[in-house]
Amino acid sequence: MYDIIVIGAGIAGTSAAAELALDARVLLLEAEARPGMHASGRSAAYFAPTYGNEVVQNLTAASERFFRKPPTGFAEAPLIHPRDLLFVGTQAQAASIDAMQAASPSLSVIDAAELAKRVPIIKAGTLSQGLIDPVGGDLDVDAVLQGYLRLYRQRGGALLTNCAVTGLSYSLGQWQVALSDRQITAPIIVNAAGAWADEVAALASLKPLGLMPKRRTAILLNAPALADIKDWPMVIDVDEQFYFKPDAGQILLSPADETPSLPCDAQPEELDIAIAMDRFLAVVDLDIKSINHSWAGLRTFAPDKTFVVGFDPIAKGFFWLAGQGGYGVQSSPGMSQLARHLILQSALPTGYERIKASVEAVSPTRFSS
Ligand SMILES: Cc1cc2nc3c(=O)[nH]c(=O)nc-3n(C[C@H](O)[C@H](O)[C@H](O)COP(=O)(O)OP(=O)(O)OC[C@H]3O[C@@H](n4cnc5c(N)ncnc54)[C@H](O)[C@@H]3O)c2cc1C
Repeated sequence: MYDIIVIGAGIAGTSAAAELALDARVLLLEAEARPGMHASGRSAAYFAPTYGNEVVQNLTAASERFFRKPPTGFAEAPLIHPRDLLFVGTQAQAASIDAMQAASPSLSVIDAAELAKRVPIIKAGTLSQGLIDPVGGDLDVDAVLQGYLRLYRQRGGALLTNCAVTGLSYSLGQWQVALSDRQITAPIIVNAAGAWADEVAALASLKPLGLMPKRRTAILLNAPALADIKDWPMVIDVDEQFYFKPDAGQILLSPADETPSLPCDAQPEELDIAIAMDRFLAVVDLDIKSINHSWAGLRTFAPDKTFVVGFDPIAKGFFWLAGQGGYGVQSSPGMSQLARHLILQSALPTGYERIKASVEAVSPTRFSS
């Protein structure tokens, strides 16, 4: 007997399941052989408090304390490692830099000389300005996911992997959740299926919300010989044309692509890798002999690029936890607390009160008219 069935064991479903399991009997279902195989296992692993719209920033800010001071026993090592976020632009992008600074006055401006000091491979005469955010950091995504899984199990939660949900119907106050070999019931289901969230809704005969999975590519390159890159910032083009950062002694580079895709096991495309190299080599001096590794994942956005969290206005007991876009890891503590608060009507723990302000903005009711 379960109170809640969570569909999808990415960071969204796993963190929500862990928080819900505090007061409810929860079953977490994952189609793949293990949790985190899709978007959550393919991210750039960065915490960027100034990234995304106001709602995203609110839920990210509410999550910061968790990453910096997780519950005792959650992880053996720190979840976040300091790394400045540096937005950069050429002279031609001065207007974008000005707009970003106006939107986020806490960012401090640095000039070309300071840029060269911080990231010595920047080609002279290319990037002319930067904006520094010192609050960002690298996240240990696997430690966050494993920590939530551990917490979930400690709280009595059950996980079934290799268990794709293939049908959903509702009768007599219960959702019947069809798996390949059996039916399971619960009064509440949580749709945390990432890129597949609209497909899961369709199983329940609900109209899609227009969630759009968008492919993003990343590659790993050798760092320049003899350079100590570990304290370089995360460097993002102010118009999000590329970003790069140190990653365990290598350079992680992305063309910041956003190619619409069907839900799938996303794979990197040669063209996106070529675009990444082209944009990167336009602004850095680096002799690149080979690409060490490449991958792609799907970042899934609602039409307004805001999260979708709340009960469906039509289907009783159907809870949406979707549209995490490019911010699903960094906002997961806040999002999972919000899900628990809305599903169980429980009080928000100290430190999470601010997320109440976003309840309306993330509600799926905004799509019904
Ligand atoms: C290249 C890249 C860089 C990124 N960088 C960052 C970053 O630096 N910081 C950040 O915060 N975010 C980043 N993101 C975004 C982040 O990865 C996502 O927002 C987040 O992982 C979404 O989590 P999720 O749990 O919603 O989705 P997923 O991790 O995709 O999980 C959904 C799960 O649902 C399962 N599922 C689907 N259908 C069914 C079904 N019918 N039955 C059972 N299970 C089902 C899937 O198998 C999957 O495991 C990045 C993403 C990419 C691709």
